[in-house]
Amino acid sequence: MTTQMTPGSGVGSRIPGAFSGTALRTDFPVFDRPTGTGKRLVYLDAAASAPKPRRVIETIADAYGHHYANVHRGIYELSEDATARFEAARATVARFVGAASPREIVFARNATEAINLVAYSWGRANLRAGDRMLTTQLEHHANIVPWQQLCREVGATLDYVSITDDGRLDPDDLRAHLANGPKLVAVAGVSNALGTINPLTEIVRLAHEAGALVLVDAAQSAPHMPTDVAALGCDFLALSGHKMLGPSGIGVLWARRELLEAMPPFMTGGSMIIKVTLDGAEWNEVPYKFEAGTPAIVEAIGLGEAINYLTDLGMDAVREHERYLFEQAWAALREIPGVRLLGPDDPAIHAGVISFVLDGIHPHDVATVFDSEGVAVRAGHHCAQPVMQRYDIPATTRASFYVYNDTDDVEALASAIRACQNLFS
Ligand code: PLP
Repeated sequence: MTTQMTPGSGVGSRIPGAFSGTALRTDFPVFDRPTGTGKRLVYLDAAASAPKPRRVIETIADAYGHHYANVHRGIYELSEDATARFEAARATVARFVGAASPREIVFARNATEAINLVAYSWGRANLRAGDRMLTTQLEHHANIVPWQQLCREVGATLDYVSITDDGRLDPDDLRAHLANGPKLVAVAGVSNALGTINPLTEIVRLAHEAGALVLVDAAQSAPHMPTDVAALGCDFLALSGHKMLGPSGIGVLWARRELLEAMPPFMTGGSMIIKVTLDGAEWNEVPYKFEAGTPAIVEAIGLGEAINYLTDLGMDAVREHERYLFEQAWAALREIPGVRLLGPDDPAIHAGVISFVLDGIHPHDVATVFDSEGVAVRAGHHCAQPVMQRYDIPATTRASFYVYNDTDDVEALASAIRACQNLFS
């Protein structure tokens, strides 16, 4: 493996016991690529999608080159090899999220599909006219629109927990909504638009006391901090491979086995059955009941290797690294006049995502100027339009950190802001 884990070996390594972001960049071929302006690439858009380490790219190439056949059906060695690698990836995901068994891991295309699976399967079987369910105003559209559709279709009511001025979920509003007896609470681990780390343990406890199941949208939390569904006690959890150094086209739904057993299939066809006659079909066991058709075989294997990479770094160390970068960046940006920062001030509840607005400059213009400085950020509503509506802004600029970032990148962010302000002054 190529990962450098020597403490103190780079600018971004001033965190005791953690790894060096600077050194880790050599693991990611994208950083060898010159930017259009010839400047070093400062990649601050992991929240949209993360670059891939060489290990993951090589694992994908090797799987296609030497271990590829369809899975679960071939009575020959190559297919058994592919199946073993695919199922090993499922076991890796299970360990990573703290699942009781790999059978609780359903492969989907992304977090969006995993959430839709629950909305279509569990939702349409369990939610009735007059029922309520609860989500929040700080969700990504992937954790809003499937529930809007579900509630509209079955005649249920969808409520939203409101956000405080500093970007936290309002605890009083949460309690008030829980008192109405929702059947499901769907909440993000981390807000992609504000960076807020939600108090999931507390939310799960309160929701269960109120008789609700809890779905965690872990698309922004699983890549950046430890995930333990057993300790958390949640009921469903969704994540996306491409945001955690894995390939696109692979996501995961974890659910408690008894829930999966009871749920009807989401999609039907090959692989998800054990018997088909002209009169009907019998479903396969879980998780295969939810994996109709040929799965994303190599994508799953690639995700397994991405998880191995993250696990080698240690998820506590990943969180510590990003917390340090967040603190540096927040302190630097707060000193620059004309910068409005969104989200909580407290680093304990703020992930490595900084959303900001520059007075008088549209975020799209900001991102364009940043690009000319070699700094890649996201500008827009981040698929979280209700968050923008809450703060009465059309868009923000968002910088998001990951393992390969360091304090040089924080300085590049601050200096790109100054360059932008100079240009528009
Ligand atoms: N949930 C959150 C919090 C996200 O940030 C995203 C993507 O940005 C998603 C869900 C959807 O992820 P995907 O587009 O990979 O399905």
